[in-house]
Amino acid sequence: MDNRSQSTQARFDLSIDDLRSNPFRDRFVFEPAIATQTSDGTPHGEMVYLDGNSLGRLPTSTLERMDQVLRSQWGDQLIRSWNLHWLGLANRIGEKIGRLIGAKTGETIVSESTSTNLYKLAWALLAHRGKRTRILTDAANFPSDLYVLAGIAKQAGQDLEVQPLAFCGTDTSSLSHASVLEVLESQLDESVALVSLSHVQYQSGYAFDLKATSELCHRFGVPILWDLSHSVGAIKIDLDAANADAAVGCTYKYLNGGPGAPAFLYLRSDLQAIMQNPIQGWFGAASPFEFQPDYIPSSGLERFLVGTPPVLSTAAIEPGVDLVLEAGIEWLHSRSIGLIEAFLKSYETRLAQLGYGLITPRDPKMRGSHLAFTHEHGWQITQDLIQRYRVIPDFREPNIIRFGITPLTNQLSDIERAVEAMEASIHTESYREFSSKRQGVT
Ligand SMILES: *Cc1c(COP(=O)(O)O)cnc(C)c1O
Repeated sequence: MDNRSQSTQARFDLSIDDLRSNPFRDRFVFEPAIATQTSDGTPHGEMVYLDGNSLGRLPTSTLERMDQVLRSQWGDQLIRSWNLHWLGLANRIGEKIGRLIGAKTGETIVSESTSTNLYKLAWALLAHRGKRTRILTDAANFPSDLYVLAGIAKQAGQDLEVQPLAFCGTDTSSLSHASVLEVLESQLDESVALVSLSHVQYQSGYAFDLKATSELCHRFGVPILWDLSHSVGAIKIDLDAANADAAVGCTYKYLNGGPGAPAFLYLRSDLQAIMQNPIQGWFGAASPFEFQPDYIPSSGLERFLVGTPPVLSTAAIEPGVDLVLEAGIEWLHSRSIGLIEAFLKSYETRLAQLGYGLITPRDPKMRGSHLAFTHEHGWQITQDLIQRYRVIPDFREPNIIRFGITPLTNQLSDIERAVEAMEASIHTESYREFSSKRQGVT
């Protein structure tokens, strides 16, 4: 299949028929469909997975790759595999991810977790802050991002503070980019040292205007550090066009890299030589295998590496990224838009009257690839959807039910099953069988 021509032609005009099936579905591991039944005898069929924005599915090619990495690379070749296979992994996979985020060659590398990368890059950018003292972020940002920034401010002492801005409540359904930029602009001046935002908010699904926001920060001489965790692999991202300074992101969400897979970091090429990694480890050194006692940082982005990479979990990222590249991000973004439009149509006609609120923007240019609804019985409904209807969204405090639409694996029937289950749970009040007490991870 020639995905390249398909992806350019199909831009934003996939038909409903295109959405009914998904040519990439059989490239992933799906459990065998179990014919479970509802109390009224309706079979539920296969599990519907709408949580790929939290943990992506397992590609069948990852099974094969891991078998090879374990048996041949580790089992047979042992230490020789560092030269043969492992030393170049972080760069090779980083370059592939770079193609999904509009990075140039040498601007993206795989390392550590998103939280750790955020720390390293925020610290590096802040080292050049001069007399500037304020870090601006989003009050609705992912907690780990808020904690990392607050931690840096605490370590820096009194001359640095974090200011989380309330661009909106959690409800972004009637937000405009202009109003968000206005709030940011009202806070920007020569005392701001760094702006750090998630491209797509993890709760509401609101997507900041990457380019306009970056440009606004630059007008005030402020660098911007983006977290792409909830957008990479599902929607188009062009860091180069936005002239963004730095970015981090997850690989275990829409990139299907596996639980706890290492993250990536991006740093614009002109900044690399002047930015220092706060954690000086041997893998960030210019010549780690010369075992010199003094640290000389690598001249390239490798200076943001730290220690020996987790080879197994890094190797597991690549097949998922390859699938995203094969499908093409234009095609995936179009599918995401088409599937979400279908969900929103059913929301208006069938769900809005049942107490579900929508907190995600309706405009495709203003959102990522997940939809967030509120309901006063949100926790119980989520449990009911998972356990009775075999539809898997996730729940976020205080009353948000999130549906991650993974364009690489989802199709229209998944959306239809979700809508039916959300409707049935309320009509039959089946959610009442579940306790309203929260527990565990969903
Ligand atoms: C998922 C996510 C993270 C996760 O960070 P880890 O260090 O991998 O646990 C961080 N930031 C955002 C915005 C996320 O969505």
